[in-house]
Amino acid sequence: MIPIAKPVISEREKQMVLEVLELGELASGRKVAEFEEKFCRYAGHKFAVATSSGTTALHVALQACGIKFGDKVLTTPFSFIATANSLLFCGAQPVFCDIDENTFNISPDSIRYVLGREKGIKALLIVHLFGLACDMGEIEKIVEEYNLVLIEDCAQAHGATFNGRHVGTFGRAGIFSFYPTKNMTSSEGGIVLTGDERVYQEVLLLRNHGMTGDNDHAVLGYNFRMTNISAAIGIGQLERLDEFVAKRRENASYFNVHLKDLPGIRIPYVPSKNYVHSYNQYTLRVLDDREGFTRALREHGVGCKIYYPMTIPDQVFYKKLGFSGEVCPLARKVSSEVVSIPVHPALSERDLERIVESIGEYCRVSYKR
Ligand SMILES: *Cc1c(COP(=O)(O)O)cnc(C)c1O
Repeated sequence: MIPIAKPVISEREKQMVLEVLELGELASGRKVAEFEEKFCRYAGHKFAVATSSGTTALHVALQACGIKFGDKVLTTPFSFIATANSLLFCGAQPVFCDIDENTFNISPDSIRYVLGREKGIKALLIVHLFGLACDMGEIEKIVEEYNLVLIEDCAQAHGATFNGRHVGTFGRAGIFSFYPTKNMTSSEGGIVLTGDERVYQEVLLLRNHGMTGDNDHAVLGYNFRMTNISAAIGIGQLERLDEFVAKRRENASYFNVHLKDLPGIRIPYVPSKNYVHSYNQYTLRVLDDREGFTRALREHGVGCKIYYPMTIPDQVFYKKLGFSGEVCPLARKVSSEVVSIPVHPALSERDLERIVESIGEYCRVSYKR
C-alpha cells in the first residue's frame, strides 16, 4: 500500500540524535534553542518558542495572546479538532464561521456575516488548511476593521506563503506542528512564532511551569517543553524543508496535469499567483459515491484518507456542548466530498503513475459522462 504519509529521515537526523544521546542533555536545552533560532530565521520572524506538540503550542499561544475564560473567538469548522479544542482549553467560546468551498479555508464573507450578527468577538483563529494560506488580504482588512486578535494555526503549512510572506507571521502569534505526517517532523513537537515580545515572554513562562527564577513561579504554567532529541530531528528536517516542499509541489503538479480533466472529481483549487501552496495534503473533491472511490483506490494499493469526514461542531463532544454544523453548510458539504491522496516527498515516479492510473481507471468507468 502506498501510504498517505511518510516522514523522510536521513543520516543527518540520526547522527544528531545520537550526539544528543551521547552528550546526555536529553530534555530541553541547547538543541531546542538552536532549533528555535533556525526556525525563526526560516520564517523571517522575531521570536520562536518550541513546545511538545502543535496542540500545546496553540494552547499557550492563545493564552499568551490574552484569550481567556468567556472570550468569543471566530474559527473554522473544517480542521483537525485540536484547533477548536485549544480554545476550549483556554475557557474560550469557539464561534464557527463557514468555509470557502473551493479553498477549504475560512471564508472572509462568512467572517463578516458572523461579525455582523454576534457582538463581543475578541479574536480570530485561522487555519491554513492542507498547506494553502487563507485569503490574508481580506483577513487583514477585517482584523483591522474589527480590532481582532489574529492567531494562525499553520500546523499543515510549513513553507506556504501569501504574497511572498511566510504564514505564521501575519497574526499576533502563529503555530506549527512537527507531527510525523506534517511537512517536516521532530517526532512530536510544535512551535510558536510571534513578533510581540510580551507574547514571547508569556509563552516562555507557560511552557515551563510559569517559572521565573530558581524556585519562583509567577503564573500557573505547564510542562509543554520540547526535548533536545526532538529538536535534533527538527534541525535536520528544517535543513531539507524547502526540498520537501518543492517535491510536494512537483507531485501536486503531476496530479494536476493528469487528473484535471477526469469526470467526477475536482483537483485542489489554488486562487492566484500570490499563493504558494505547500501541499501537506492533496485533497480531491469526489462529487458522487466517495465510498466507492476510496474502496477502489485501496484495492489498487493506494492509501487515501478523508480529512475531514465531519465538521468540528458536528463532533459528538461539540454537539453535547450545544454546537451544531448547521451554521456551516458549505463545510458540511465539503466534508462529504473530500478525499486526500498521497503527495509526500517519499513517493517514487512509479507510485505517482500508479496513483494516477488507479484514479483514472475508476473515474473513466464509474463517472462516464
Ligand atoms: C496536526 C494539527 C494540529 C495539532 O498538532 P499536533 O502536533 O498533532 O498536536 C493542530 N491543528 C491542525 C490544523 C493540525 O493539522
